[in-house]
Amino acid sequence: MAKSINQDTCIQCGTCLPECPNEAIAEVDGEYRIDPNLCTECAENDGESRCQAACPTGAIEDAA
Ligand code: SF4
Ligand code: SF4
Repeated sequence: MAKSINQDTCIQCGTCLPECPNEAIAEVDGEYRIDPNLCTECAENDGESRCQAACPTGAIEDAA
């Protein structure tokens, strides 16, 4: 499983990017995206996702 960013609610603030311990978040052509191959859901971090906690709009969701 991995997190993904809902492009409809993401405001491209960039807050999540430095929060990821795996550098799974990247900005490409103005869109922030999570690489599902790198995202570990921060399972080592008490099961809490750091990007999700940091996002001001709740745009980070469980990947479908
Ligand atoms: S859930 Fe954790 S590992 Fe996955 S993108 Fe967010 S901060 Fe990175
Ligand atoms: S913190 Fe949330 S709103 Fe900001 S770039 Fe990341 S996903 Fe988008």
